[in-house]
Amino acid sequence: MKFSNFFIPTLKESPSDVKMRSHDLMIRSGMIRQETSGIYSWLPLGFRVLKKIINKIELFHDIDNVNQILMPTIQSSEIWKTSERYDTYGKEMLRITDRNNKDLLYGPTNEEMITVIGKQYIKSYKSLPRKFYHIQSKFRDEIRPRFGVMRAREFIMKDAYSFDLDETNGEITYHDFFNLYLKIFNNLDIPVVPVRAPSGEIGGNLSHEFHLIVESGESEIFIKDDVFNKKYDDLSLKELINLESYTDDYFKKINEKSGFNSFKSIELGHIFLFGSKYSDSFNFVVDSHEGKFKPFMGSYGIGVSRIPAAVIEYSNDSNGIIWPKNISPFMVHLINLLHDDTECLEFCEKIYKDLIKKKIEVIYDDRSESPGKKFSDADLIGIPVQIICGKAFKKHNEVSLIHRANKKETYFKSENILNSLIDILGENV
Ligand code: ATP
Ligand code: MG
Repeated sequence: MKFSNFFIPTLKESPSDVKMRSHDLMIRSGMIRQETSGIYSWLPLGFRVLKKIINKIELFHDIDNVNQILMPTIQSSEIWKTSERYDTYGKEMLRITDRNNKDLLYGPTNEEMITVIGKQYIKSYKSLPRKFYHIQSKFRDEIRPRFGVMRAREFIMKDAYSFDLDETNGEITYHDFFNLYLKIFNNLDIPVVPVRAPSGEIGGNLSHEFHLIVESGESEIFIKDDVFNKKYDDLSLKELINLESYTDDYFKKINEKSGFNSFKSIELGHIFLFGSKYSDSFNFVVDSHEGKFKPFMGSYGIGVSRIPAAVIEYSNDSNGIIWPKNISPFMVHLINLLHDDTECLEFCEKIYKDLIKKKIEVIYDDRSESPGKKFSDADLIGIPVQIICGKAFKKHNEVSLIHRANKKETYFKSENILNSLIDILGENV
């Protein structure tokens, strides 16, 4: 993509009500635009990041045999009356009346709808276990939407749901999702900590959240030191349950509180094993040799549109964003400082095309802006590797490569730069 063609409305300053670093950087780098309180458009740069995250989530869910579907945003109030959550959900639920006076709502979550879907098609134990997910907008009329997409009213969630024969099988599925989440976050370069949580709104007794520790986080978690040294993905479910890492709410309930440290954090994922609460309310019954039974269910959420904000909160410096490679909107930021020079222009055009051929995502700053503006925009949007074609190209036929994260600069002969880039970007290309 050429910078001159890319719609990237960078700003010098954010509006004064912007309080969080990630919110400021997302607005200033032109990733998102607020439409009204807690409701955002994703502009091209932001949407590229979102799609990277979605692609990874889809890839790993697919490998784990979780069926992707797409349920609507709008739901009928009937199913929420059946589960008795229509009244209890309160003001966070956006209620809508259609032209026939039918009560609808913008879904804050989908347990009811998936249970109704399961009930219609799953009749025998032979069809179990079954796992479904979708990636869809949710609406929750938060009292205080804030920090941009970190706590929005309309936001994108990945929510998955599982149906199992019984509790034992449900726990196996829960463990699979636990590991799936660790894999996904690991693959997105996000070092989350799993913490035990009370199950809250949905009920039941097994629940964990996945948190990213950052000082500006809204949540608080309590962790014993040795938890950090564990390789979570090698652990059995029992060992995971016994990890001494808790959400604030869970920590309040435990007796022995010594030896814990508390950290501010951001909740990025949440898994629940809630049992037969919904299969009971919808009378969802499946046949087996031993008679009829109600499937054992779980639900598993990831805050897809919160992730870019959380990653920026975790990884930035005074000049802007520092994207981890795996979710960066581009891999290489090619900067032509001598846009009026024919040789420099030809070189940049050629390397730009070569990178595209090699499927290395590149943004090419071909604008006739000052070097200062080009550098500050590059640092603001935070692509991992910058390639600079400037004076050294004219003098020594060299271009420089700057790592955004540590600003380390190395010069390469221009004919070697493509291979060096391939080496540096390695398997992630
Ligand atoms: P929170 O405690 O942050 O309000 P929650 O516990 O109500 O979140 P869940 O129902 O567990 O949220 O939803 C699954 C995931 O969706 C959360 O882990 C979080 O990452 C994300 N999420 C929830 N609410 C919002 C929101 N208002 N804006 C953006 N993401 C959200
Ligand atoms: Mg939660």
